[in-house]
Amino acid sequence: MVLRGVGPERVFQLGRLGIHTVGDLLLHAPRRYEDRRKFITIRELELGKSATVFGKIIAAGVKRLRGGARSVYEFVIEDGSARLHCRWWNLPFLERIFAVGDEVMVFGRPNLLKPRTMDHPETEKVEGGDDVTVHINRVVPVYPLTEGLPQRSVRSFLWRAVEEFAGQVGEPEPRLVPVGTVEQGRKGAGESVCLIPQFPGSPASFPTRAEALSVLHFPAEIADAERARRRLALDEFVALQLEIQRRRQNLERNARAFPCGGDNRLMKPFLAALGFKMTGAQVRVLRELRADLAGPVPMRRLLQGDVGSGKTVVAAGAALMALESGCDVALMAPTEILAAQLHRNLAGWFGPLGIAVDLRTANHRPGAEPGPPSGELRLGARPPESGAVGRLLVGTHALLEDSVGLGKLGLVIIDEQHKFGVAQRETLLRKGRDGGRFPHLLVMTATPIPRTLGLTLYGDLDVTLLDEVPAGRGRIRTHVRDAAALPKVWQFVRSELEKGRQAYVVYPRVSESDRDEVKAVTKEFARVQQELAPHGAGLLHGQLRAEEKDLVMASFRAGTTKVLVATSVIEVGVDVPNATVMLIEDAEQFGLAQLHQLRGRIGRGAHESHCILVAEQKTDAAKARLKVLAETTDGFALAEADLRLRGPGELIGRQQSGVPEFRFGDLRGDRDLVELARALVRTHLRGA
Ligand code: ADP
Ligand code: MG
Repeated sequence: MVLRGVGPERVFQLGRLGIHTVGDLLLHAPRRYEDRRKFITIRELELGKSATVFGKIIAAGVKRLRGGARSVYEFVIEDGSARLHCRWWNLPFLERIFAVGDEVMVFGRPNLLKPRTMDHPETEKVEGGDDVTVHINRVVPVYPLTEGLPQRSVRSFLWRAVEEFAGQVGEPEPRLVPVGTVEQGRKGAGESVCLIPQFPGSPASFPTRAEALSVLHFPAEIADAERARRRLALDEFVALQLEIQRRRQNLERNARAFPCGGDNRLMKPFLAALGFKMTGAQVRVLRELRADLAGPVPMRRLLQGDVGSGKTVVAAGAALMALESGCDVALMAPTEILAAQLHRNLAGWFGPLGIAVDLRTANHRPGAEPGPPSGELRLGARPPESGAVGRLLVGTHALLEDSVGLGKLGLVIIDEQHKFGVAQRETLLRKGRDGGRFPHLLVMTATPIPRTLGLTLYGDLDVTLLDEVPAGRGRIRTHVRDAAALPKVWQFVRSELEKGRQAYVVYPRVSESDRDEVKAVTKEFARVQQELAPHGAGLLHGQLRAEEKDLVMASFRAGTTKVLVATSVIEVGVDVPNATVMLIEDAEQFGLAQLHQLRGRIGRGAHESHCILVAEQKTDAAKARLKVLAETTDGFALAEADLRLRGPGELIGRQQSGVPEFRFGDLRGDRDLVELARALVRTHLRGA
């Protein structure tokens, strides 16, 4: 495909926008649309309200300010009803672009009415001749640009590209009309009319891809563009689902797993020593996991459970099945604190059963510390004698390093998966690969993931819900306060400490920045100590050395320090049942899902707990957000709200590498399309 009439300078400029082919150009979506069938007159312009007007330049010039270092370029247009002044600061070259007598369209927001003035509006010169059908008298697209590239050039290129090539841009497979799903409304052979009654809410039909591209750029009505976007978004979701489901299909057809179902000989004493009874949900999930682990196909399962639902015990149970079967198990957690805590829990449970549990983080290597029995670095170098028990290695992403050799790795468990990328997950699984055999995989997430995002991020995993919280937990009350109430809040925290309880105090930052006034933990620590004296406080944040973190956590867990002043490093996993207060300052800085996680650190014992959110609720949106949190303890509902309010990147963490970027798809609102894509691909692959 060659689009003629695009000169070298334009080719270079388009390249800067990432457009290198006609296909790229066709996917360059308009930023907005403008209805140029009717203009308002300049006289009708209203203060602060965006509008497009059309007129002739009657005066123009550059004024130098402050000895010439700064300048303002201005032109005045007239349309027979009134005049409009348009001004640009420090863009003197505009003088060479416009001339008195030119006809221009101007889009902007008047910031003065006497005289009528717009600062830095968007402009477009109207030129006589044949392209009047493209740039005027219709709904026109307005594109993202780069320096020196005029709006009307891009629009002209696209007009021609759509005319000549839209029909040649291939349909991604599978075609959207699997035979049999078209039940009515068929327009004729080869027409992409897709009617899928089992998806209520999805529109009855999608345009063809060629039609969608044409409508995306030159819709008859602005509202039509959304239909086009949805079709192109569906194609993106289909492409992603194809990749995900193909990988899965390939695994099921070609990969084999070590049998890891276990024989219950260690499970029985483990359950007997636990000290509590498993919830119904835990029992159900363990049964499900056993069926997977005993099977020939490597398990790929996501365990979702709200904070406090008891995922760790479930993970331990699954690990035990693999260990009983003589396989090794690796458990990866996102932070040192969490890895150390998991190691302590598991060593406590498994040590008495004679199982080696090792810790591997950047700072701890197996054998480096006293405590539970510790194996050598290289696992699995044993002959596969029957009745042998495997080993458990707990760690952070240090587990991914090459120096850690994993032997007969039967099961990989990843806690808080969303903190890791898919690539890291795959690395760990590959390390365990042995000939044609692959380890089983269990990933756990404490941040409930809305379904749209789940299908996108974890579409290749089976999902299990741990939907029951152990009985006997104290209630959590959530309070929203502004900074003026702090003295009372401190008084309340003191009264809880007096009763023997413990408290977390959380700040958004480690250290102060001069950009804003967000409170920082290192600065506030002294004040918290003062407010809560004589009760001892510890300081915890991500920049401390591992040994320091360990010490701080250990003395908080032991109750020696009553207060833990921290950043959101304690967001995931930390489990101290005697803590009943979670005080979060500058709470508006956190996402809902994150606040929910922090709140999940309390309410783990029998006592009533209190989550206090101190926030300047400057905007209604901020107020509404915290109100949602105060009224709901359902992590799934909160995650849905967070996805809508802040988008996928914020929900699962900025550092997350796994969220695919879509050009047209929008995970906030396209759930029906994600579901549809998944079903279409499924049908397609079954037939393949
Ligand atoms: P999360 O799902 O947030 O990871 P944890 O696994 O940390 O939750 O469990 C939270 C707390 O609940 C831990 O102290 C754990 O020992 C306890 N727990 C787990 N299951 C049960 C149960 N069935 N009954 C009572 N307590 C439980
Ligand atoms: Mg956990």
